[in-house]
Amino acid sequence: MILEPRAPLTELTEDQLTSLYDRVDAFTNRPSYRNCLIPGCMKQFDSISWMSGDPPPRPELSGKGWHTLGSGSIFPAGGHICPDHAPLLREHFPRRLQLPNGRWSIDCACEWTPTPQRWHGVLKALWEQHILTVTDVLPEAPPLTDPEHRTPLADLDDNTLAELYDRLWDAEGELVDAREAGRAVFLAYEQQRKLTGEQATLLASVHNALYSLRSNLVKSSRDWSLERTDAWLWALLVGWDCEEEHQHGEDCEPGAFDDVAKAHRWSDIRIELARKHRSVLAQAGPNDETEAAAARAAMLDKDARR
Ligand SMILES: [Zn+2]
Ligand SMILES: [Zn+2]
Ligand SMILES: [Zn+2]
Repeated sequence: MILEPRAPLTELTEDQLTSLYDRVDAFTNRPSYRNCLIPGCMKQFDSISWMSGDPPPRPELSGKGWHTLGSGSIFPAGGHICPDHAPLLREHFPRRLQLPNGRWSIDCACEWTPTPQRWHGVLKALWEQHILTVTDVLPEAPPLTDPEHRTPLADLDDNTLAELYDRLWDAEGELVDAREAGRAVFLAYEQQRKLTGEQATLLASVHNALYSLRSNLVKSSRDWSLERTDAWLWALLVGWDCEEEHQHGEDCEPGAFDDVAKAHRWSDIRIELARKHRSVLAQAGPNDETEAAAARAAMLDKDARR
């Protein structure tokens, strides 16, 4: 080890002291380079100057535009991506998958997923190989069933045989999973279909009941605005305001409810409640718009027959 000769305090000059401090600073603030995760990429940035907001030691070491990987990827400790490779990472973001059988795989954003592995550390290398393949640095992998790539018995070792069995087990495991998932979806669908049918029947009956109530009110000669209870019934079953989807005019009184509410001194809460109930019943049963639509359809029908 080469050690700096130490000057005793009595002989130390101002210049020597400044130089000593400068060198200590240089050692404590040594640049710390971060590399891009994309294999073959030589770009780096200096995280020390970037974090402290100081200018980088060289312009090309600036952290501007670099992306930092959060959790959930196959890089548990995170990582960095240079500005040039940010779009590539977005297209091939490697989400780490732990399968029910305890194995590890990758859910790449491009939908590529490798054969499940026993150790998650292998995933990084597999993804790098995938990146090199999609960027045309490596040739496409041969298909697994290609007879030319089958290993003859003589070349088989314990590892390659285990790999073959693993692959078979994974395929079998996936088949069982898929069958169970399919069954669950089918049962949920059946349940939903039954429920939807029941709801539709109920809704049709409610519609008919409301239609009957509404017709009785509309056809009666009574002034439904005079009595409090009458006014409330009309507010819920027919609605005081015009509900037709058109340009409201003089004859349809779009703000009639305000006048009735004022006449009976209904509180804001009561008015709001009436509006809420009416909007529900207007959806479940007849309203001005459905009746107007029926009338329009009948008119068109008559015109067509003429
Ligand atoms: Zn890069
Ligand atoms: Zn991908
Ligand atoms: Zn109107």
